[in-house]
Amino acid sequence: MLEKVLIANRGEIALRILRACKELDIKTVAVHSKADAELKHVRLADESICIGPNPSSESYLNIPALISAMEVTDAVAVHPGYGFLAENAHFAEQVERSGFIFIGPTAEVIRMMGDKVQAIDAMRKAGVPTVPGSNGPITDDNKRTLQLAKDIGYPVIIKAAAGGGGRGMRVVHSEAHLLKAINITKSEAKAAFGNDTVYMEKFLENPRHVEVQVLSDGKGNAIHLGDRDCSLQRRHQKVLEEAPAPGIPDEVKQGVFDACVKACIDIGYRGAGTFEFLYENGGFYFIEMNTRIQVEHPVSEMISGVDIVREQLLIASGQPLSLKQEDIIFRGHAFECRINAEDPQTFMPSPGTITTYHPPGGIGVRVDSHIYSGYRVPPYYDSLIAKVITYGMDRTAALTRMRNALDELSIIGIKTNSDLQRDLVTDAGFQRGGVNIHYLEKKLGL
Ligand code: ADP
Repeated sequence: MLEKVLIANRGEIALRILRACKELDIKTVAVHSKADAELKHVRLADESICIGPNPSSESYLNIPALISAMEVTDAVAVHPGYGFLAENAHFAEQVERSGFIFIGPTAEVIRMMGDKVQAIDAMRKAGVPTVPGSNGPITDDNKRTLQLAKDIGYPVIIKAAAGGGGRGMRVVHSEAHLLKAINITKSEAKAAFGNDTVYMEKFLENPRHVEVQVLSDGKGNAIHLGDRDCSLQRRHQKVLEEAPAPGIPDEVKQGVFDACVKACIDIGYRGAGTFEFLYENGGFYFIEMNTRIQVEHPVSEMISGVDIVREQLLIASGQPLSLKQEDIIFRGHAFECRINAEDPQTFMPSPGTITTYHPPGGIGVRVDSHIYSGYRVPPYYDSLIAKVITYGMDRTAALTRMRNALDELSIIGIKTNSDLQRDLVTDAGFQRGGVNIHYLEKKLGL
């Protein structure tokens, strides 16, 4: 087992990782910026180190500072959480070159999945269904490109191979606009990501976002932990998630689950990962793979009974996957509401001191959060301050618990989006289940 793990993150996920380490008797090192000395996991860790000033570029993204912190504390491994350096192949490489363990896939696999053209190619080879598209970069052969788009059928979407965070994409509705749109996307991609490779996909007009959680040990063993529906999004940011995705036939899901597991084995994937799909008219279409733990992982933990962070730690220690697919029994339904420190009207971040905090509780209620009464939310980082997760034997039971949990939740002193979440869980369309990725923005009048 790993003796000591450095947690290269902050907030709720750092606390989540710390808890999993404690259960496995692993010693923990917390690193933090100046503003974050009062974080809950910093207080609870065996050791803590201030790695730099408040801007994340000088602290949580500071690779030399993180590696020095591992050296001085004798940590053997680093858990990157999500965001920050979690999908940075260069960081994974530097960690391993310095003789430490990166809790995640190899740098090579991170790099491959970060290039969407390569990722889609690997998935197609493994039999994962992908969006009809150019199956490779768009070339200088304009005649070929125009024919390709015609064959795919408009509207199409031009996407940067190195794109991320919903940037570097452009929808094209007719042939007259195609070549110009490609040129603009190329120059934007070059400026934003230093790589002007772009590819083409059919633009799906009303898809749902459905993703598959996997665990794989890089030694030929892989399993899936079912799917999640994350269609409620604003500006490509997920707001409320659930597991399993409602209203999709089991046999359709099963084929996709099997393909994801096969893909993990084919690419030698190591760790926890997520295959993201668009789902439309009964079909799944792969869009990208996330090579890290995700914010919404708890809903899969609730329905599968598997502690995903614990499994990440076990895999990183070099053990073969202890779980077999037949050990995983899916039961019930789970929801997660992300509580953000933000203005409910403008969605601008709302940092400040939380004067009073009352978390909800009771059977089937889990709150993953680092906040406490008197905690000061700094203005420098992501505005996620809590995840309220509920579980029930069926979707209605889990949703009823979420309504009650949100009613109990009280955060005073800063603005939060909890009223929006209360509104969503009582929304008739959402209650029926299966809304598409445009539903929330339409509801908000955007
Ligand atoms: P990123 O890495 O920037 O998040 P993705 O490939 O995951 O990029 O796409 C982000 C979002 O863009 C998707 O969740 C979806 O809303 C939209 N999108 C991407 N590809 C398509 C497509 N082929 N058709 C319709 N929408 C798409």
